[in-house]
Amino acid sequence: MIYDIIIVGGGPSGLTAAIYAARAGRIVLVLEKESFGGQIVYSPIVDNYPACPHISGADLANKMVTQAMDAGAECMSAEVTGIFHAESETFTIQTDMGNYESKALILATGARHRELGLPNEKDLVGNGVSYCAVCDGAFYNDKKVIVIGGGNSALTTALFLADRCKEVTVVHCLQNFQAENTLVEYAKAKANINLVLNKKANRFCDNNGVLESIDFVDNESGKLENFVTDGVFVCIGQQPQSDPFALLGITDDLGYYDADETTITHISGLFVAGDGRAKNIRQLTTAIADGATAGLAASEYTAK
Ligand SMILES: Cc1cc2nc3c(=O)[nH]c(=O)nc-3n(C[C@H](O)[C@H](O)[C@H](O)COP(=O)(O)OP(=O)(O)OC[C@H]3O[C@@H](n4cnc5c(N)ncnc54)[C@H](O)[C@@H]3O)c2cc1C
Repeated sequence: MIYDIIIVGGGPSGLTAAIYAARAGRIVLVLEKESFGGQIVYSPIVDNYPACPHISGADLANKMVTQAMDAGAECMSAEVTGIFHAESETFTIQTDMGNYESKALILATGARHRELGLPNEKDLVGNGVSYCAVCDGAFYNDKKVIVIGGGNSALTTALFLADRCKEVTVVHCLQNFQAENTLVEYAKAKANINLVLNKKANRFCDNNGVLESIDFVDNESGKLENFVTDGVFVCIGQQPQSDPFALLGITDDLGYYDADETTITHISGLFVAGDGRAKNIRQLTTAIADGATAGLAASEYTAK
């Protein structure tokens, strides 16, 4: 079977593309390797999505998936490992569940957490080091934790953890937080959140493979300071999930898909949407805007 449109990635941008394309009468398949809903599944509360104030990310994601399926899109769990297109009018999408074929393709593969790059970081994941408070926060009930980072996701994570942990210390390597002011103010108002600026993580100290403390370097004095902790949540930004598609030659130096708001790439029939696209603002609203544009553009392409 040849699908009209295959969408790689079942996050907000991919699901929105699916809703628009299915409603335009196209035969649509969405392939998702982890959780349908994408990154937003990990957000306890979303407060900036119009008409749905104070909704959990998981609830919002469920609504999007249901809407895409109700519109007629097929949603399948599979990891896409490569794309073949050379001298062909269709795209062959290689996955861990077999190959699929489509006339148009939308890459909506988003982004994921960035690592600090400290020597034993990978070894300590699950033993004190985490990147997802919603996934691992429950392991730290009534404990002391550190959140590393200073953007929206770091402050959101700190607020989430403050409701269950005894003490949350947010440590940021710059002199100011990059997060929205309201989030910083919420964090300041919480009695069990400490905000620390201008210190850079230098070393994870462990005892038999379990994190015990973290050495930070103070940017001004250059001195090492040791913070004892039960766990650390690393929230220092994201990297695009475009590696399997590098050979298509549609990414910039940072690995983001190189396309403007039209979502059109230099490969005919190939569109890109969401946080994986090179742009300034990566939010739900910008992801779904891309999804709508790509869904309609791919629908128009397949009508030709
Ligand atoms: C903790 C947290 C809190 C947030 N809070 C907010 C908020 O309050 N408001 C807001 O507007 N935004 C928020 N965001 C940002 C928002 O979640 C993202 O902007 C949005 O999810 C981007 O959607 P996307 O579809 O482009 O990418 P993603 O959500 O990253 O989805 C991409 C999907 O593609 C899948 N995928 C990747 N590669 C493959 C492959 N090879 N094969 C198959 N599937 C693949 C991934 O598994 C993922 O599910 C938050 C993000 C996080 C992490």
